[in-house]
Amino acid sequence: MKKIIMYSSPSCPHCHSAKDFLKKEGIPFIDKNVQNPEIQKEYQTLGVQGVPTFLIDGEVIVGFNPTQLLSKLDFILPKCPSCGKKMIVPKGKGKIRVSCPSCKTKFEMQC
Ligand SMILES: [Zn+2]
Repeated sequence: MKKIIMYSSPSCPHCHSAKDFLKKEGIPFIDKNVQNPEIQKEYQTLGVQGVPTFLIDGEVIVGFNPTQLLSKLDFILPKCPSCGKKMIVPKGKGKIRVSCPSCKTKFEMQC
């Protein structure tokens, strides 16, 4: 699964929207505050400007665009038809059988 790093600033409203989105979707990410001098140094090596900046498996994406962000992931987050919990399923496997980790309901889906 790809690792998602988000460089953000606490004073940036777009960063807050992005964080809310990722949390709501259940997408795991590492939040790095660029106001921290160590993180700032790391961020500068990316050679970009502006937050939020995402680093997804080495690919740098500046700005928050939910559609673009989701398209970069190698997994999808379907909801269980029975209990409504989201789960992480790898993308591009075709039709698969999924078993919900929380209620054990099995269902088929295209991914
Ligand atoms: Zn379930």
